[in-house]
Amino acid sequence: MAFEGLTTRLQNVFSKLRGKGKVSDEDVAEAMREVRLALLEADVNFKVVKEFIAKVKEKAVGKEVMESFTPGMVIIDIVNKELTDLMGGSQSKLAKANKPPTVLMMVGLQGAGKTTTSGKLAKMLQKQNSRPLLVAGDIYRPAAIKQLQVLGEQIKAPVFTLGDQTSPVEIARQGLQHAKDNGNDYVIIDTAGRLHVDEELMEELRQIHSVVNPDEVLLVVDSMTGQDAVNVAEHFNQQLDLTGVVLTKLDGDTRGGAALSVKAVTGCPIKFASLGEKLDALEPFHPERMASRILGMGDMLSLIEKAQSNIDTEKAKEMERKMRNAEFTFEDFLEQMDQVKKLGPIDQIMDMIPGMGKMKQAKDLKVDDKQMGRIEAIVYSMTTEEKRNPDMINHSRRKRIATGSGTSLAEVNRLIKQFDEMRRMMKQFSDMMGPKGGKNKAM
Ligand code: GDP
Repeated sequence: MAFEGLTTRLQNVFSKLRGKGKVSDEDVAEAMREVRLALLEADVNFKVVKEFIAKVKEKAVGKEVMESFTPGMVIIDIVNKELTDLMGGSQSKLAKANKPPTVLMMVGLQGAGKTTTSGKLAKMLQKQNSRPLLVAGDIYRPAAIKQLQVLGEQIKAPVFTLGDQTSPVEIARQGLQHAKDNGNDYVIIDTAGRLHVDEELMEELRQIHSVVNPDEVLLVVDSMTGQDAVNVAEHFNQQLDLTGVVLTKLDGDTRGGAALSVKAVTGCPIKFASLGEKLDALEPFHPERMASRILGMGDMLSLIEKAQSNIDTEKAKEMERKMRNAEFTFEDFLEQMDQVKKLGPIDQIMDMIPGMGKMKQAKDLKVDDKQMGRIEAIVYSMTTEEKRNPDMINHSRRKRIATGSGTSLAEVNRLIKQFDEMRRMMKQFSDMMGPKGGKNKAM
């Protein structure tokens, strides 16, 4: 996951500060030195780091900080705010044309993720009840048109193409007309990329721009390329007047420099972040939430939003009732796991929960998709009766389940023990809350 190194380093700096009742000027200076190193190591542009540290210092050395009851916390808060500002302050939303269709022109180097991002954006817009049209304007990369068509089929969005023998400028022009004729409220134009920024490509992009007059020119950059991504953004911006940046591959182990520098260097806001290859792995970029994630403070708001759009509330309520009445079975457990999986890879979810990111680093606490898979395999190896009455799972049954699921007896024992404890706790909790269950709220 992106930013892991940075998060760990910053957390170490801050835990030292937090432990102190009084913080001296030297403590602050020392902390700032470490924050500076952490940012440089995360591949943040050095000019950006310099300015960042100067701003934080200016605020942190002030009298109010030293005299506060919790100087460490005040400094973390200052860093949090400055990180947020660095990434743009607040969310920069996608433009919407007064008169549809809204035209989005996707640009970027080859391999950055333009085509896949076009598909992801289309899917996101569909979820908001829009009817996007995808336009296949990359006629040079072999298979780019086909790739867009396949994406279009997957999400059931129309794809406009004139093959690879018509000029991209003409394709864009006719694509826009097609959208107008067919009532599409968004047009997403996928354009060609090159391995490097080159003049010929820029000229073509400028021509497309003048023909379709886009509401957004979104530069797609690969965050794994660090400072290179920032340089690319600077180049494109000089030639094309970008309106926003989409950062891809933030699920990889990028150090995070691109995310933290691109806005400061180019002035272009980051509008979306992509965290995976799947079509729903695109998220609107919220600077304040990203800062919170980087500082290891989680991102509950994004998690709640994900849950709201993916989780079946009726099921959640029914599950809650079962938990209260201690009727929770292994069948329900499987269903719960399914719901959680809809939210995305487990390690990404954990990063969104405050404190969990840090727990993830503990060696003996390995919660990942593989581990979830083993747990599922164990439950699947139980008979329906066993799933419904876990109490009947005796020693010989446990041995059979272990063999059947390709796990060990110890793992089966552990899971059943944890399940029992969970049920007991639920029961106690619900008794404590009284017969009506106190404030009965789902989730
Ligand atoms: P284009 O040349 O800019 O159109 O790039 P593509 O859309 O073909 O993407 C290049 C590769 O990057 C593909 O294999 C994508 O699946 C992959 N990719 C794109 N976005 C992401 C992302 O956010 N995370 C990961 N892990 N892979 C991505």
